[in-house]
Amino acid sequence: MTPIESESIHIQPTYTRQPIHITRGSGCRVWDADGTEYLDCLAGIAVNVCGHCHPKIVEAIRKQAETLIHTSNLYYTEPQIRLAEELVKLTGLDRIFFCNSGTEAAEAAMKLARRVTEKTDFIAAENSFHGRTLGALSLTHTEKYRTPFEPLIPGVTFVKYNDASAIEGAITRDTAAVVLEAVQGEGGIKIASKEYLREVREICDARDVLLIIDEVQTGFGRTGAWFAYEHYGIKPDIMTMAKALGCGFPIGAMAAREDLKFERGDHGATFAGGPLACAASLATIDVIRSEGLVERSEVLGAHLLEGLQSIESLAGNRVREVRGIGLMVGMDFESGCGKLVNMARERGVLLNCTADTVLRFLPPLTITDEEIEQVLGVIRQIAESSGA
Ligand SMILES: *Cc1c(COP(=O)(O)O)cnc(C)c1O
Repeated sequence: MTPIESESIHIQPTYTRQPIHITRGSGCRVWDADGTEYLDCLAGIAVNVCGHCHPKIVEAIRKQAETLIHTSNLYYTEPQIRLAEELVKLTGLDRIFFCNSGTEAAEAAMKLARRVTEKTDFIAAENSFHGRTLGALSLTHTEKYRTPFEPLIPGVTFVKYNDASAIEGAITRDTAAVVLEAVQGEGGIKIASKEYLREVREICDARDVLLIIDEVQTGFGRTGAWFAYEHYGIKPDIMTMAKALGCGFPIGAMAAREDLKFERGDHGATFAGGPLACAASLATIDVIRSEGLVERSEVLGAHLLEGLQSIESLAGNRVREVRGIGLMVGMDFESGCGKLVNMARERGVLLNCTADTVLRFLPPLTITDEEIEQVLGVIRQIAESSGA
């Protein structure tokens, strides 16, 4: 039985997979079982910021694995404490709660917001994505993800994105927090306007409501800043992180202001902040810093965006808009872009299609100018092959 056949009978059929079986990665490239090389422009969905198998991260994991893999939160461990110090420095917030994924970071943020405000309700945005567990799913707008699992937690109101007055109008005396992505990722690379997040920050302050920013997809240099909220000159009260935090080693975190604190026993997880995950994350932050990846993301993202903006249609599918910030770029088409994902893959570039019509580019931040040219070359080839 081939691995693909085995998957079809042994694994829950939750994922729609591309028909390739990846066995190896290095830098911005991955190889499938037949040895075919692909330029990875998705980076494990905004995860492999430093590229695949970066030698410094591999070495940090190897060294930590030889020393201590797990011991639980019943004891102190050095990598967890060092990583918390780094995250406090980077986020400008004060205290960290560790977990293992983005959805768990959202759960922690919801519990903390309820705990400290003694209020129950949340306001989230249309087209939001915050995760798949029942709490985080309650903040996720997508109908097809929600409906089969209702009832979800009550008291979540969805309002139009990029409309601060909609938030103002939705606040009640039960509102604990407003939860937003600074750039909606799964929702189709929708970027908050400058005024929007500033106005939301002012409204939250005036109405005594917490502002939770979800940086799970945007964090760690993706948008040309360590965190996307920095582009807006605001600071959240609580923020969530995961994806790029461990460059592929599973880890999530929630950061919060000093006065927003759980009590002992309020929350926890067996694996959370384990030495191996934290060692991988410390090495990831070190590589982002020492290789100047945040700045690279801004410069190379502008190059990619400019190249894509000159394309009018692909395979007969007209481009509605090309949007991007740093190396988080989407081409929005008039109709579904699944076929374009296949055409790009057949030409050696891995991309995905989100929100049905948005072809999404999230390459490692280590991508080179030549590799960006290669990606643009493939996109132009597709444009030409369809006579556009
Ligand atoms: C991916 C994502 C999540 C969920 O993260 P998981 O690690 O898949 O649970 C939450 N918020 C945003 C913005 C995301 O992109």
